[in-house]
Amino acid sequence: MTPAIYLVKGREKALLRRHPWIFSRGIQKVEGKPELGDTVDVFSNNGQWLAKAAFSPQSQIRARVWSFEKEDIDTEFFVKRLQDAQAMREPIIARGGLTGYRLIAGESDGLPGITIDRYQDFLVCQLLSAGAEAKRELLIDAIKQVFPTCSIYERSDVSVRKKEGLKERQGIIHGEMPPSSLVIEENGVKIQVDIVKGHKTGFYLDQRDSRQQAMKYVEGKSVLNCFSYTGGFGLYALKGNAAHVVNADVSQPALDNAKANAELNGFDVSKAEFLNADVFKLLREYRENGTKFDVVIMDPPKFAESKAQLNGACRGYKDINMLAMQILNPGGTLLTYSCSGLMETNLFQKIIADAALDAGRRVQFIERFAQAADHPVDSAYPEGFYLKGFACQVN
Ligand code: SAH
Repeated sequence: MTPAIYLVKGREKALLRRHPWIFSRGIQKVEGKPELGDTVDVFSNNGQWLAKAAFSPQSQIRARVWSFEKEDIDTEFFVKRLQDAQAMREPIIARGGLTGYRLIAGESDGLPGITIDRYQDFLVCQLLSAGAEAKRELLIDAIKQVFPTCSIYERSDVSVRKKEGLKERQGIIHGEMPPSSLVIEENGVKIQVDIVKGHKTGFYLDQRDSRQQAMKYVEGKSVLNCFSYTGGFGLYALKGNAAHVVNADVSQPALDNAKANAELNGFDVSKAEFLNADVFKLLREYRENGTKFDVVIMDPPKFAESKAQLNGACRGYKDINMLAMQILNPGGTLLTYSCSGLMETNLFQKIIADAALDAGRRVQFIERFAQAADHPVDSAYPEGFYLKGFACQVN
């Protein structure tokens, strides 16, 4: 018999709204002996069947819903989810001429704890939850069925797996080893992606739409691209005919890759610099020595991994944005982003407002940004929205 969990009275409401998480405090009783990642039936307190979920005994998110239907969680189930996700993205792929895109965005694609990014014919999987890990073989079979010509590589080398009681894992699952020189294209820009050694699954696909939208602000301007990684915004700035682009990052391999990307696109590399620098220090140096820019792009890594880190994160965002405002020429543009899911848009806007006060500058919000369209947010799962940004006019 399938093990079962019964919820605390009233806790069925979230599931009836199709939210896919069951927290440990929401569980009244567990029947049977479900182990790490096992599928369980979920019942309300009065015995109403609600969902099938993956059990995760060590995590605060004690179970994640696979399905709100009475269906088997088998290869066919994964095939259907993969096909739906691919179909939803076809127009996005066609519009952007994409050879790199997020195929599966976890909960928002009905596959909790699973991320799959596609780079050319390489599918890169990240399994983040006990349930995903338990169904790994079924998922791989399903991927092979739906994408028979693709190689599969795993980048489950992420620390969040610890919360689920899992070890990190990385390596080839099926097909060919990804070459370090793999090139994808988005919006006519070529980008070399290192699936094996790069950050995350290799590239920050989620900023694609914002990179495209940034282009309209840069023509003839001097641009500082903070936290550049492999070029991202800087490449679009060169494409948009910026006069000069400084890319700054602490990762030398990322900077080398950024330069190679600029060359690959045939951009005028003499207009670009690739600086190995800590952005926090660099901005202060620029402020002290009076270096100014027309456009500053601020796309830092996630500052808040947990609620406990949110206050510190707020200070960090305020600091770098204040410094960015201080080194902008009057009438300049600040393009600023936060990829911390815990940082809500309103709070981020307040932080920018505080930074403006401290910088002594007049700041107007002129455009808003969000994660790219291949990173959808399921309406039942608002947590799926994590990446937000603003274009600000700074006077
Ligand atoms: N804008 C990029 C993605 C940025 S990811 C794109 O569009 O692809 C964040 C980057 O910040 C990483 O490359 C990381 O190496 C870099 N980083 C982290 N801390 C830093 C610091 N203090 N100073 C400079 N770069 C930093």
